[in-house]
This record gives sequence, C-alpha cells and structure tokens, in this order.
Amino acid sequence: MVCCPYNAVMTFVNDTHNPALKSFVDSANTGTTDFPIQNLPFAVFRRAGSKEDFRCGVAIGDQVLDLTALGKMHLLSGDAAQAVQACSESSLNRFMALGAASWSALRASLSRLLSIDSPHEGVLRGCLVPQADVEYDLPARIGDYTDFYASVHHATNVGKLFRPDQPLLPNYKWVPIGYHGRASSVGVSGQALKRPVGQVCGAGQTVPVLQASRRLDFELEMGIFVGNGNALGSRVSIDEAPSHLFGMCLLNDWSARDIQGWEYQPLGPFLSKNFGTTISPWIVTNEALAPFRKPFVRDAADPQPLPYLTSDNNSAQGSLNVSLELLIETQAMRDTGTVPHSLSRGNYNDAAYWTPQQLIAHHTVNGCNLQPGDLLGTGTLSGPTADSLGSLLEITEGGKKAVTLHNGQTRTFLEDGDTIIMRAHCESDAAVRIGFGECRGVILAVEL
Ligand code: CA
Repeated sequence: MVCCPYNAVMTFVNDTHNPALKSFVDSANTGTTDFPIQNLPFAVFRRAGSKEDFRCGVAIGDQVLDLTALGKMHLLSGDAAQAVQACSESSLNRFMALGAASWSALRASLSRLLSIDSPHEGVLRGCLVPQADVEYDLPARIGDYTDFYASVHHATNVGKLFRPDQPLLPNYKWVPIGYHGRASSVGVSGQALKRPVGQVCGAGQTVPVLQASRRLDFELEMGIFVGNGNALGSRVSIDEAPSHLFGMCLLNDWSARDIQGWEYQPLGPFLSKNFGTTISPWIVTNEALAPFRKPFVRDAADPQPLPYLTSDNNSAQGSLNVSLELLIETQAMRDTGTVPHSLSRGNYNDAAYWTPQQLIAHHTVNGCNLQPGDLLGTGTLSGPTADSLGSLLEITEGGKKAVTLHNGQTRTFLEDGDTIIMRAHCESDAAVRIGFGECRGVILAVEL
C-alpha cells in the first residue's frame, strides 16, 4: 500500500491520500472544502432538533455519511466490517479501542465506497445527511482530559506577565508541562458558557472577593484523541505513540485570568479553567494528517530531548503543518450582520515545542494508563509573531493594550455575547487541502 510518489519520507501515505481521488459527492471535489475524500474525519451526530439517537458519521463534502446506516448495508468485509459495526454506537470509543489497523481498514474502504467510481453510489446516497441539517455531540466519552503547555512562545509570553523576573521556568525545555483538566465540562462546538464566578484578589489587595470574572479569555489549542490505550504500569514508547493517536481536533481552553492569577500557585489552574472547554465536532484522523507532517526541529542552542522523547521517526515527521485561524464575533456584529473579526493566524509547526508523539510518550513514561477517548490539549498555540497569538492575555499584553475590532469595538477580555471561532486547515503542494471544520463557543452573562 505504500505508494508515495509525492513524498518518499511519508511512509504512512497510501492510496487514500492520492490527490487525484474524487468523490461522487460533488461538494467534496471543490478544492476548498474542509472535507474532501482525502480527509474522512469522524464525528457523532443526529438530525438537528430530532429525538434520533446520536451516531457516528464521516464527513464528505457538505454531507455526513451515517455509519450506522452503512453498517446495515453489509458492503464491507474483514477488519473494515468489524470497524463499521463498532461505529454503530453513540460514541467513537469502541472504534478507537480497535487500534490503528482497524482505523486504516475502514478508511481505505470508505475511500473506495465514496469515490467517483463507487459501484454502490445509489445505496450510499441513502446514507448521506446534509451537514446543514445535523447537530453534533462529543465524538467520544472523554474519561480523562490533560492539558499541556506545548508552545514555548505562549509559555514565555504568559510567564512575563505572571513572573516578570523569571518568564520561562527552568524545567520547561526538558519536561512537556501539563495538568489534569476536567472532562465533564468539555463540550462540542456551539457550547454556550456562563461567565464563571470565582475568588479574585486584585493587585495590592490582601483579601479576595467573589465576583464574576472580568478577565475572561480563550486559548487556541488543538485536541489530541487517544485511540487504543495502554495498561496501567506500561509505557507507550515514542515510536509506538502514532499507533495510539486516533486524531486531532480544535480546542478552546476558556480561561478566567483573574481567578487563575489568585489560585494557580502552588498546584496550577483549577476553577479558572474547569468551567468549560469547547472542541470541534470532527476528529481528523492521524492517517489523514500524514501528508502534512513536518520534521521536528529542536533549536541547537536548547537542551535536546531526553532519549525517551527522541526518535528518528519523530525527528523526520513529528510535527505538522496546520494553519490556524482565530476569530471573534460580538453581539453587535451579529445584530448588524457583519462578519467576524480575525484576531490571529498561525501554524501548529511554528508554535509547538513538543510533538503529539512526545506528549503521549511523556504522559505514559511513569506507567499512567491512557484510555480510548482520552483527550490531550496541546496548550495555547501561539506563534513567534504578534499576529499569531492564541489568547487575549497575550494579544492585549495582560489587558494593557485593547485590541480594536473592524467595527470599531474594542476588547481587552471577553464580554457577554462574544463568540470565539477557531478554524484550521492543512495545505501542501503534494496533497489535497483538508480542514478541521469549526470550533465555536459563546459567553453568556451570569448573575452572582
Ligand atoms: Ca490551556
């Protein structure tokens, strides 16, 4: 199956990435859609407003292929047949647990079934639901959520604000820093969150007050879904990590900076973060991302990663070329029908100091068991330039420099009614563009 005339390094690239492939679903062939036949991301959906069961689906153009309906057609065989049956549920966990060979078998079958040459176009059209008509649930039951801190630019920018004397702590360049977040408050795009209330202790104050956060922020991150897990007491090596990595999505780690500033020492963020985390509905699989891999390069002046965080494969293709965009839509923009304001544009490869493989290898080095459906956040993906920052804390330099939006409104932190929109896509000369869809969430007013 290895056939990579367009990049000999990418041993994972196979027939499903062939740029010449077209689908019988015309909207998948535009060249600008997020969901061409080369992508085939997974989500959990049902018809909007219906009482239908949520079920697993795959995006193709502007449609969702209903995998439960497909499973009833008995068009697949072998591993792919077992895989599609595992998708006949209201979450992807059982499919995730089957492992990389099964994910790959189903992807190969779906690629053939949805191709322009498909012998089953007629029956498959009966399994399509327009994306415009669906609503989404979380793609997996998330048992545990860990948030990392993988952008050195973000860590330095935030460190300057919280600890001007020592922005980057000495462990940063050795250890992929993370904390255990809260899974119960992770929601899917479209999430509406009340502004959090918490303890705040202002500068120069010694007694905190309970109030609604006045420094409410977001963090532009990517989410990493763990596929098959590892037993407690075992490790996932850095070379094994790609086969445990099901796929990636967009993630907004909403953050109340005033609550965070008072509570974060000595044990890290708590109530400033766990009131809500929003992810995009579609998981772009690790296999779909293969054509967009980039070398992992550690600056020669920095400490090189310890051996358990180093491998030839990770050095050759551990990073990813993912373009990121962050937008804000205020209530006034919605009232006047104006487009959202673009706050920043960056790239995963410019932002991330650690690769997904390194995060998985590090998470399990002590024997910690990851489980199917576990979610890892990359940390805020701020790039090295002022136009590629992933939080208002950084964009406004801690609230000191308000940002002016295209309609004349200004923001230091979020106001009620503000919607944050995240988008991402991958492009290269040798592959068809694929995208992640959208991660959208809105802040609602709260009463004390
Ligand atoms: Ca974060």
